[in-house]
Amino acid sequence: MIGGLLVCALAMAMAGAGLGAARAAEPGVSAAQAAATAAANLPAATAVRVGGDDKKTRFIMDLTDKIEVTAFALANPDRIVVDLPQVAFRLPDKVGEHGRGLVKAFRFGLIMQGGSRIVIDTKGPVAIDKAFVLAAEAGQPARLVLDLSATDRASFLRNIAIGTRPVRSAGIRNSEVTPKANGDTRPLIVIDPGHGGIDTGARAASGELEKDVVLKFSLTLRGLLERSGKYRVAMTRSDDTFIPLSERVRFGRSQGAALFVSIHADAIPKGEGQAEGATVYTLSENASDAEAARLAESENKADVIAGVDLTAEPDDVANILVDLAQRETKSYSTLFARTAVGELKGTARLHKHPLKSAGFKVLTAPDVPSVLVELGYMSTKDDLKLMTSADWRAKTARALSEAVDRFFASRVAGGAAPKGN
Ligand SMILES: [Zn+2]
Repeated sequence: MIGGLLVCALAMAMAGAGLGAARAAEPGVSAAQAAATAAANLPAATAVRVGGDDKKTRFIMDLTDKIEVTAFALANPDRIVVDLPQVAFRLPDKVGEHGRGLVKAFRFGLIMQGGSRIVIDTKGPVAIDKAFVLAAEAGQPARLVLDLSATDRASFLRNIAIGTRPVRSAGIRNSEVTPKANGDTRPLIVIDPGHGGIDTGARAASGELEKDVVLKFSLTLRGLLERSGKYRVAMTRSDDTFIPLSERVRFGRSQGAALFVSIHADAIPKGEGQAEGATVYTLSENASDAEAARLAESENKADVIAGVDLTAEPDDVANILVDLAQRETKSYSTLFARTAVGELKGTARLHKHPLKSAGFKVLTAPDVPSVLVELGYMSTKDDLKLMTSADWRAKTARALSEAVDRFFASRVAGGAAPKGN
């Protein structure tokens, strides 16, 4: 049979309403208090079961309330995306790492304020036979039920093509609003904490998540830069929300950022060796080594992980590099990267090759000097210990803010971009 793409207008309307409502903070109520209250009132997901085989698979999620859902398929890689109103996921730590039947793995989390998402990686093309939520009854909780069946690639692609594009894909939250320049001529620094929401980034064996580690660090860095009084500072996210890569780039450009610093923490898959220390990356078409290529590929997957439809996105890393404007930007990016490594040398652990380059999508603004800092390795115990300590965070943020000072001081003094890159 041809699997229907179930689109529910109500879910979209709810998601849309949530976007505005959840962002408005009441005066006198701290953001943390507001978030805690909101989480307590949210419907919760309490258990997941996947049953069936390679022909038909049923995915069930127990819920504390009946909610509306929207399910649709995406290709390349093959995924099923289920959008829901914001849900508190009270599920075991590693649930979703391994699936069953047609479900290879799945993940879930916030995709924007007011909206959660489940992304299911499938073992091939599948049809959504059913996607609905049963009300609680006879001692059973409310349940999200998703019935999937194996299909051929042609039908799968046809279903995607004729399906109504869900509103949610376009409705993913924009980045933070920046403080308006209002005649303020201080340079704007955009700090970009990697990942967020449904995209957790790297996960340490002990459970710590890259998205949390880098957000904490970014908030510390923002505090330091703001207190210096020399810069305006904006962040692409300052909470646990997913922001697509292209949106991060667009934000830096549209705000006229003088410097864009993306903050991440790396991880090496189990059994593939060990590494330690911080690395500063700039954009290049050809990766400086195999590890840099591996890293860029994994960081560029953020949108795929979150179930963003990339069919309309141009693959512009190569094109952008031939942009004339890029030449000066590239030199400035390299200058900042070198300065940052120089400052980090005395304070943070550095990788043995601390300066590298690769094709990171988030660094592709042709007119904003951009670097990506990998603070260390979530997979290396000692690095993780450092990265989760307030002392190290403060020291390392100070080193980066000193690099920012040096960078702008040399730009004011020298004017022209350095040559020889
Ligand atoms: Zn990352």
